[in-house]
Amino acid sequence: MCQGPHRVTNRRAEGETRGAGPLDGRNVATPVAGKATLAIVTVDGAAKNDKKMVREAEVVGVEWLSPGLVRLFFTGEDLRGIPPLECTDHYIKFFFPPKGADYSWPFDPALLRTTLPAGQRPVTRTYTVRSFERESNTMAVDFVVHGDEGLAGPWAAKATPGDRIGFRGPGGKFIPDHSADALLVAGDEAALPAIAATLQALPADVVAEVFVEVEDEAHRIELPVNERTTVHWVHRDDHSHGVGLAQAVRNAPYPDGRVQAFVHGNAHMVKDIRRYLFVERGLEKARASISGYWRTNYTEDAWQASKHEFVAAMEAEEAAAGQS
Ligand SMILES: Cc1cc2nc3c(=O)[nH]c(=O)nc-3n(C[C@H](O)[C@H](O)[C@H](O)COP(=O)(O)OP(=O)(O)OC[C@H]3O[C@@H](n4cnc5c(N)ncnc54)[C@H](O)[C@@H]3O)c2cc1C
Repeated sequence: MCQGPHRVTNRRAEGETRGAGPLDGRNVATPVAGKATLAIVTVDGAAKNDKKMVREAEVVGVEWLSPGLVRLFFTGEDLRGIPPLECTDHYIKFFFPPKGADYSWPFDPALLRTTLPAGQRPVTRTYTVRSFERESNTMAVDFVVHGDEGLAGPWAAKATPGDRIGFRGPGGKFIPDHSADALLVAGDEAALPAIAATLQALPADVVAEVFVEVEDEAHRIELPVNERTTVHWVHRDDHSHGVGLAQAVRNAPYPDGRVQAFVHGNAHMVKDIRRYLFVERGLEKARASISGYWRTNYTEDAWQASKHEFVAAMEAEEAAAGQS
């Protein structure tokens, strides 16, 4: 866990133990609906860490955090097998039948992928685990409600207690660097869950400059901040996603000292800020966790399919800009 290209050196906080990660045991709120009574189910008595394992979750609570962000609380026997969550950007992939398919959960994703024609196979949508409270076996996930298009957003907007869904994961890579002087954070609504979880786990002596783009003032949410964290809210108003955010990051003073960066959200916004950090500020790539969570006018499937090419073009532009 917490390994990969974004891994950074981390000094474990005093008193923090393995198996009690930043997301473990720190639920963000109590679900509004009652929880099912569950037996503890483990595999050979141990939590099974299998990212590909298909698990089922049941909605037990719904809380609207803003007009465009809904938090769903999930429980279910399968959640007991979720391994320790040691990163602050853990994500899971929910399974959905594509639009027009004549089946619904429960289904076997692996089987349907081999037996159904391409357009009817189940697809996945990626979401951050905002928190997982092991004691009550409750997982919170915050969904951006971005209109009628798509599968996950519209599903979450209508979800009610008792609804069930399949998912796999969690994966995750990022953890705040306890030896950094400053953490520079930028993201949009889709990144708010990971940003909030990161701020919650931030060492008290690290300065955090946090830039968040939301539609307007009504879409701001409360973030877990300490006195060394400054949140700069950017309102999109009539601009395209990410334009105002990238501008705000560029216009702000660059933090002093050893900087770590966490930048996620709309792909075009990420591209712009990435270039600023790597090319103009000379930030080492190993000190940054940067990725496009979604792309305007692309479904997640289409974005994932085009991501390799998008990233290659972005890197080529950065390399050319670095030489000029
Ligand atoms: C690691 C990771 C973690 C993520 N965590 C979260 C999270 O915690 N919460 C969250 O809400 N999202 C999160 N996302 C983003 C989410 O996976 C995408 O937004 C996904 O496309 C939503 O699926 P959908 O079925 O609603 O829309 P899709 O079917 O994928 O897309 C339909 C249309 O909606 C547009 N669209 C998609 N997302 C948005 C958006 N956020 N705002 C405006 N338009 C959009 C697309 O461009 C497309 O035109 C994460 C992504 C990654 C990679």
